[in-house]
Amino acid sequence: MSQTIHMHADIRGMLDHHRRKGSLKGVFKNTETGIGLSDQEARDYLYDCLAKGWRVLPVDGCDNFDYQTGCKGHPIDADDNSENKKEATNST
Ligand SMILES: [Zn+2]
Repeated sequence: MSQTIHMHADIRGMLDHHRRKGSLKGVFKNTETGIGLSDQEARDYLYDCLAKGWRVLPVDGCDNFDYQTGCKGHPIDADDNSENKKEATNST
């Protein structure tokens, strides 16, 4: 069965990668306000995630995510695709 796998970001890797102060500014957004987090807010958030025992964060919207291993996969319904194709060929 085919499936979609979303990207994930390694929390420790992000902190390692963005050691320079200010480099995490705007990387994360507050999901309620849509406003980008400051560098310090982003760092606090990542350390909070580590404190919860998380290792990775979802990059795309993902509703089947494991904070240890990442996206657990989303099956693609093959029937839906063939249905769409049929409709496309019929429109003459
Ligand atoms: Zn996913």
